[in-house]
Amino acid sequence: MSLAATGDGDTARRADVGCAPARGALTMDDLPAGSSALDCAAVGRLLTHEGAGVTVPEPGMKVTVDSLSVDGSRHGFTVEVAADGTVSYALAADPGAEEHHARAAAPAAPAEPAAARRAACADGAYAVADHKEYGTYDWWIGDDALPGNVSAAEAHRAFDGAIGTITGTRNKCGFGDVVAARSKYHGRTHHEADIDQQARCVSRDHVSVWDAGVLSPGVVATTCSWSRAMPNGQPDWLKEADVRFNTRDYTFTNNPAGDCKNAYDIRSVATHEAGHVFGLAHVGSGHEAQTMYTNSFACTTGARTLGRGDVLGLRALY
Ligand SMILES: [Zn+2]
Repeated sequence: MSLAATGDGDTARRADVGCAPARGALTMDDLPAGSSALDCAAVGRLLTHEGAGVTVPEPGMKVTVDSLSVDGSRHGFTVEVAADGTVSYALAADPGAEEHHARAAAPAAPAEPAAARRAACADGAYAVADHKEYGTYDWWIGDDALPGNVSAAEAHRAFDGAIGTITGTRNKCGFGDVVAARSKYHGRTHHEADIDQQARCVSRDHVSVWDAGVLSPGVVATTCSWSRAMPNGQPDWLKEADVRFNTRDYTFTNNPAGDCKNAYDIRSVATHEAGHVFGLAHVGSGHEAQTMYTNSFACTTGARTLGRGDVLGLRALY
């Protein structure tokens, strides 16, 4: 079925596919899968779904929003616009509805390291977003707020370590490095992460920025990634990925030991977000020991290194 290719006039096409209203945010009902982002003039407009949102990308591009939340209630989705303008969606798997409500805010992960490691290495569950970095991820740190009031140098070490955990496949389970991609830090920038205060992806500026600021309540951090379609079913090619920490609603620390209360480990959150950058998606209920688990845990460094499922997800992509 190719509604957009009928070619018998704008009016008929618009009526067929239910084009977007002229103003305000779009929904998937306004721009259903199979319709044309070009015919509907939807490129550059905000599209929301279950509280998440992205700006519809230009033809040939895909944008994914992923939010790390305290209770799993926010996840994310993907909008892809094919070269001919045809729209498609990928929705995150249900992260485990029965579990959301059983957890208080900022739940604590298992404290016993050996048990946590065993759990992480017994579980091979993963999900991928079908994009990857084929070369070098070039990234910057914003020159405004940072999580945990850390210095720029500390933020650089923390984020670089987190990204290096993905590109180096650092894991608890004895797997070797499976990721060929690299990363390069380019310093601080006046550019910002292209993420708004509702944790939605706005139009991209072609500069991959990690920073901090206001996001929706319940969202600890958000990654927006943009990738270009590749031929022959290969994963899309990452072109930009921005990461923002929610420093209005959450406390972050670079050293979650001792008297930590409800503070999120910068490196654990950063490693999870770096997983999104390089193409991993969330795993849900029952997979708490994986770095790519949907929820974030306070006062633990458990997500700083990868579990079996995280590694298998990277191996599927790289
Ligand atoms: Zn996430």
